[in-house]
Amino acid sequence: MSKEYIIPIFLPHGGCKKRCVFCNEYSATGFGEFPKYRDLDKIFERYLSYFSEKNNVYMAYYGSTFTGMEKEKIKYYLDYSQNKINEGYAKGIRFSTSPEEINEEIIDILKNYDIDLVELGVQSFNSEVLEKSNRPHDLENVYKAIKLLEENEIYFGLHLMTGLPGSNYEIEAYSVKETLKTKAKTVRIHPSVVLKNTILEKLYQKGEFIPETLDEAVKKVSEFAIMIEKSGKKVIRYGLCLYGDQIRNVVAGPYHQSFGDLVKTDIIYKLIDNLEEEVKVPIKLKPQFLGYKKRNEEIIKDKSIIFEDRVDIEYGRRKGLDLEKLKKILL
Ligand code: SF4
Repeated sequence: MSKEYIIPIFLPHGGCKKRCVFCNEYSATGFGEFPKYRDLDKIFERYLSYFSEKNNVYMAYYGSTFTGMEKEKIKYYLDYSQNKINEGYAKGIRFSTSPEEINEEIIDILKNYDIDLVELGVQSFNSEVLEKSNRPHDLENVYKAIKLLEENEIYFGLHLMTGLPGSNYEIEAYSVKETLKTKAKTVRIHPSVVLKNTILEKLYQKGEFIPETLDEAVKKVSEFAIMIEKSGKKVIRYGLCLYGDQIRNVVAGPYHQSFGDLVKTDIIYKLIDNLEEEVKVPIKLKPQFLGYKKRNEEIIKDKSIIFEDRVDIEYGRRKGLDLEKLKKILL
């Protein structure tokens, strides 16, 4: 499968009816204005110039409740992207939105465009967590949106979070299990990070919210990632995506610029820890097995991992983890 190239376009808080406790899209993205056609062209050209291949390009609208915006605005951006698709410059459209803004009317609009993926911000399958996080939707909205997308064969992905107010490991594991029952094509999962100018920041300053530690977050996300990848769904991102100076907006919580690498390192650690026999691994996978800052060096020595040239992964008895699936995460 060839690499996908994404052109991200930020529409901070467009269509959002409430402010989720963890969210300040201005803090998270640094963009305050909605782009017009002229700006869209500039963004499009700039990203295109970065890409080494131009034949697998997708336009993605993030930072908003895309389908919660006025219909005219939704069509404005979809029309722009569809033109790029019709001209052969892009292959599909992605956007993030909130479950309560997926309804029959919206589905009818979406059917006129080449929608590649709807990223549905579910965050948790627990009502209390949704309420405490000031999410604009309840569980009924979540299941209804999923049903509508499934029935209309529109590809979608689900977005989950760990460490939200009122959440815990059991609730999050349940959310992952509910996710696996759906036809979601992808899953995005990241821990709750306290950003400047958010409700969470105020709760944190008052001592009413205690974020997960980095270690806790990595361990949870790696465990959930294994569950998700083993089911055949794809995790498209671990960790919060912040750009440039926006990292300074992190007040507290498990933010790390290499969060994804830490998660992958932990996945490999768990894999190796479960091995019962000698394993031969292709030498090209050695950096991934060693992991972030060679954190897995010790366990690799302890567990008879042999790196060899031109070897497919060979293994004997093993518990739980599926090397073939894990290879897909790593490569
Ligand atoms: S719906 Fe999405 S963009 Fe809007 S406030 Fe909540 S997390 Fe932020």
